[in-house]
Amino acid sequence: MADFFSDGYSIDTLLAAAATGFGGAVVPPIVQTSLFSFDNYQAFEDRMAGRSDDPLYTRVQNPTVAVLEKMVAEAEQGDAAVAFASGMAAISSTIFALVKPGDRIACVEHVYPDAYRLFERLLRPFGVEITYHSVEELESSPDLLRGAKLAYLESPNTVVFQAMDLPRVAAHAKKHGTLTVIDNSWATPVFQRPLTLGIDIVLHSASKYLSGHSDTVAGIVIARAELIDRIRDLSLSLLGGKLAPFEAFLLTRGLRTLGARMRQHQASANFFVDNLSRHSLVKRVLSPGPNTVPGLTGRSGLLSVELDDTINIPNFADALKLFRLGVSWGGFESLILPTQIALNQSGEENSLQRFGVSGRIVRLSLGLEDPADLWADFETALSQSAK
Ligand SMILES: *Cc1c(COP(=O)(O)O)cnc(C)c1O
Repeated sequence: MADFFSDGYSIDTLLAAAATGFGGAVVPPIVQTSLFSFDNYQAFEDRMAGRSDDPLYTRVQNPTVAVLEKMVAEAEQGDAAVAFASGMAAISSTIFALVKPGDRIACVEHVYPDAYRLFERLLRPFGVEITYHSVEELESSPDLLRGAKLAYLESPNTVVFQAMDLPRVAAHAKKHGTLTVIDNSWATPVFQRPLTLGIDIVLHSASKYLSGHSDTVAGIVIARAELIDRIRDLSLSLLGGKLAPFEAFLLTRGLRTLGARMRQHQASANFFVDNLSRHSLVKRVLSPGPNTVPGLTGRSGLLSVELDDTINIPNFADALKLFRLGVSWGGFESLILPTQIALNQSGEENSLQRFGVSGRIVRLSLGLEDPADLWADFETALSQSAK
């Protein structure tokens, strides 16, 4: 495939033009097979000896999945990518390939709740040290990462959506030989390409904007070839969290419209941020705008609001007609997630409790409905639920 960015094309052109590698087929076939057989002894031996890279077994390599990997690698301006069965499989597989007992991970505060649980419940008991740092600390303390094997970043981070100066943090990390990993699910390569800002590894929950249709769970990691080879060889082979060919097909389909969808999400988010910031029953709007940090060029449809104390949040949620209640985000449908529900979740201390998120915050995922319809619904529910 041509290197579309070096040809000066935009990401929209790249995703529309991405070839499937199956002759003239503009859509990749779903190669639904577990194994690939060989024509003769020599071809099989060459593959096993690493002298060819013909597909061998779908746990590690599959042609439909390879089309997806190539599309996302190009979109993120990376060398290579490896897809996984979920965003969490992408996160855990990346970390297990790079970290060993005794190493330290420096993590941004307000990290995705299940990434936090991975660090606290699985990695810490295995002897990996984890330290948490605010965005400001990561930006302003050049020596914070001294001795850290890996910096685990999200920008913006979860629920409170604080954006980070990535070139600055990447420069601090380089000084200490710390690898930087960022979860770029919020911005997508349409609005932020961290590899071009000095970050080493980008990963996504592809269940969100990359797929965009709330019909699949998937993850993907993008980086220079040597890191992707290591993650594929160690984690994909040995932990086995592979993406199914059918899910990869759904993702290649979703990706064709990523740019158009992100622009519509952005238009709705801009409209909401304008209206919300002028509303007397809204205390705070949490949504980083374009150019608030270097390299962030747009605003996605995932944002939070802190509601006035006079709003009864359960009544507000139930008064909404167009916003559904649920986890996840990034699809065509609008959703709300009241943080109080997450704060009341059973089990061990969760990341929202740990990092002190207010129960008055409601997260919104603005879908692809008409923004005026959405706003009318939101405003009516607000006024109906004020005491
Ligand atoms: C959903 C999500 C994940 C986890 O992805 P899954 O595909 O659900 O495993 C990771 N990071 C962020 C920011 C997410 O929103």
